[in-house]
Amino acid sequence: MCDHNCQCSNNDGTRHNWTTEEIIAIYNKPLMELLYEAATVHRKYHDPNSVQVSSLLSIKTGGCSEDCAYCPQSARYETEVKIENADMMSVSQVKAQTLRAKSAGASRVCMGAAWRNVKDGPEFEQVLEMVRTINKLDMEVCCTLGMITENQAQRLAEAGLYAYNHNLDTSEDYYKEIISTRSYQDRLQTIENVRKTNITVCSGGIIGMGEALEDRANMLVALSTLNPQPESVPINALVPVEGTPLEDAEPVAIWEMVRMVATARIVMPRSQVRLSAGRTQMSQEGQALCFFAGANSIFAGDKLLTTPNPDINEDMRMLNELGIRIQKPFETHPQPATVEAADSQYHSLGENPKWTRPTHKIERNEEKKRVKVGK
Ligand code: SF4
Repeated sequence: MCDHNCQCSNNDGTRHNWTTEEIIAIYNKPLMELLYEAATVHRKYHDPNSVQVSSLLSIKTGGCSEDCAYCPQSARYETEVKIENADMMSVSQVKAQTLRAKSAGASRVCMGAAWRNVKDGPEFEQVLEMVRTINKLDMEVCCTLGMITENQAQRLAEAGLYAYNHNLDTSEDYYKEIISTRSYQDRLQTIENVRKTNITVCSGGIIGMGEALEDRANMLVALSTLNPQPESVPINALVPVEGTPLEDAEPVAIWEMVRMVATARIVMPRSQVRLSAGRTQMSQEGQALCFFAGANSIFAGDKLLTTPNPDINEDMRMLNELGIRIQKPFETHPQPATVEAADSQYHSLGENPKWTRPTHKIERNEEKKRVKVGK
């Protein structure tokens, strides 16, 4: 029996049958009640005085074919991210950045590439080499590369990938208001492909995109009903970027962030809940409340792919002030082995998977595209 007097579907205390109504009721509890409950769950499953510091590297920036309304890397919008910066980083650059992040206290490096999906070929081979290199430096390595097939997931697993990030972003209903170039089902399929390997799953979302509370709750339903639940759940507050369709979005209030983190902690008790984009808009007191509510990871470094983020030294001072210990790599899951390319069981198949291209258009996103063409 779990903490909620219900029938758990797992023996480990996690429930996979949360409903929208239950999650909304948790989110709307009086704040002190919510904080107390979330902190109690957090203490049961995690060290409440430790936080993981991850470093995000954009290995290929901008020029993306997708129309995600929040993203300055979409080639459709006129933003400060220039396509001429779209070359991939080299393996030696990634190694140097990893060593820097490690010496600053990070235990995980997350590499992001602005791709719709992974294509077999030299760029993917280069990513695999980056994964091998980082794993051999005894750092957790995560990738966010867009949609991947099962074979590609197996190849990443063999290279020593620790986690694959693929956010659901929002609810299935609201997804259609944010992105029209792929479907929610595609997202779930990639997560399923990753689940067939020993790679851990990192999947969360963004608040502040104009979604209703019901959408936030439904996103948490979608994540918490995955079995197993994602090992890692990033909660982002939208950072509106000039030139994107969401440039005028209202800032997310700290209370919404605290409530979202606390609710995620309660419904996914074993996951690492990651305080991700939007921290520059939060005070250190606000972030401390998020840690109390169950957040146990932050991204450090002055950029989160392309948006601003607090300086790593400032973060370290904050964690020190709060008496928070920085987690070491592989505290929650063992380090995967790295198989060298020559010994790989899985080879490039040159597959051409049929990921969905929904036919609907989002008028707001189309309008931004027209503005760009008209310039
Ligand atoms: S969020 Fe990812 S897939 Fe969407 S436009 Fe940005 S880089 Fe492309």
